[in-house]
Amino acid sequence: MNEKNLICFDTLIIGGGPAGTGLLLKSLKDGGTNGFFNRRVALVEQSSQLIAGNITQYQVNSDTLSDVFLECLDGATSNFFNLEQLSAEIELVQSYKGKSIPLPKLAAYFNKLGALLKEALTAAQKCTFFMNTIVERVVQDKDGIYSIHLSGRQQLITARQIVLATGGIPKTQSDTTFAHTISLSPYCDKIIHTDTILRLGLGNDLKITLKNNPRVVIMGGSHSAFSAAHYLLNGPDGITFKNGDIQIWSTRRPKIYFNNKAEALASGYDDFGEDDFCPVTGKLYRLAGLRMDGRALYMQMLGLGHAIKENRVVHNVFTNQMLEIEEQLKSAALIISAYGYQLNRIPFFDANGDEIQFNGTKTNRWVNDNCELLDKNEKAIPSVFATGMATGFIPKGELGGEPTFNGQTNGIWYYQNAIADLIMRNLGVMMEE
Ligand SMILES: Cc1cc2nc3c(=O)[nH]c(=O)nc-3n(C[C@H](O)[C@H](O)[C@H](O)COP(=O)(O)OP(=O)(O)OC[C@H]3O[C@@H](n4cnc5c(N)ncnc54)[C@H](O)[C@@H]3O)c2cc1C
Repeated sequence: MNEKNLICFDTLIIGGGPAGTGLLLKSLKDGGTNGFFNRRVALVEQSSQLIAGNITQYQVNSDTLSDVFLECLDGATSNFFNLEQLSAEIELVQSYKGKSIPLPKLAAYFNKLGALLKEALTAAQKCTFFMNTIVERVVQDKDGIYSIHLSGRQQLITARQIVLATGGIPKTQSDTTFAHTISLSPYCDKIIHTDTILRLGLGNDLKITLKNNPRVVIMGGSHSAFSAAHYLLNGPDGITFKNGDIQIWSTRRPKIYFNNKAEALASGYDDFGEDDFCPVTGKLYRLAGLRMDGRALYMQMLGLGHAIKENRVVHNVFTNQMLEIEEQLKSAALIISAYGYQLNRIPFFDANGDEIQFNGTKTNRWVNDNCELLDKNEKAIPSVFATGMATGFIPKGELGGEPTFNGQTNGIWYYQNAIADLIMRNLGVMMEE
């Protein structure tokens, strides 16, 4: 490789969505004093935009308060760029204060903030951005340095440390079985992942089909399952559902987020134990609980609070009701798989040229408590971290969250705060060694 085609960095972030840019925004919020920018930092993003990632493509309301999306502007962020330039976009987000916001409405704000971030960090020579560029593979050299191969570029870049923030992809490998028991393969021509519905809606053919036969079965009890059911009931497609037309099946009862125990009990909810509260904030099911539209729907289905009971959607916990579920699958016009996401991985090769297999492929736990990416033997791949959608990171201790949680922490607040801090601390420790 010609030397002028080789650029060396200390830290390379792969993916410039909410999680990848979370490290940059957190550093600015903290005044740029945490040492992150003392090293040579670069970010590679396959699209032309920063921050927005995939979240603005979902045609549903946020499951977090809109206020959360503005928190990255707190602290010292405004020292680095003029927030006046963002005032119209901030105003739009603020108009949803204390509420959830339709996710596409965040696009203008994120895209402009991303452009300002790039401009400021490029001018200050704090970060090099490779936009419209895909990382195709990462190869570890004998001396532990990583070579990063980019699409359509002659350049090869190297880095000592890597932060993988490439988002999630809908899980497909388990799409054909439910609860390790029920094969969905006979129905594959009518199965759609929640991701497709929440991004693209139903499509004309499906709308016509559902108008004739509105029976829908949703397999899996993730947040997306309830978002999909909410979308079907309230989306733009105008399909009339009768009682019991939408059936959700999962292996466990969904959980509901509450600010505290008193609020939960006041609304008639008592499906929790002491370990379901976050010891830091006192919130119930802070991580696992359904929020916003999905939460409102499930509360209506249970008849909690003052809600009018919602009977069009029914939730079932699967305890081997084989005949009932088979009957529903046969008669449904649409089966929605709501099995969540897995990490959107890129190929990594070790110094011998062998492709590294990841722990997460089988277990969904891609990272350890330090956010280090794990190989198939649960060993941390040296100096490689992962953040963002579907990494399987479970906050503990001062990071908060209920002790009983064992799912995925998919929230921008975490990527831009607690997880960004944790990774930067670990990156810093390594640099000092
Ligand atoms: C339906 C839905 C609703 C959600 N709602 C909320 C919500 O309301 N609030 C909340 O906090 N969280 C929400 N989340 C969870 C999560 O915050 C978002 O999914 C968020 O988009 C995840 O950010 P990310 O950076 O991990 O991934 P992404 O947003 O997917 O960003 C990944 C980035 O990496 C880039 N990339 C990928 N591969 C490569 C490569 N090989 N080379 C270079 N670049 C690459 C992509 O172009 C993209 O920009 C939601 C998730 C879903 C599925």
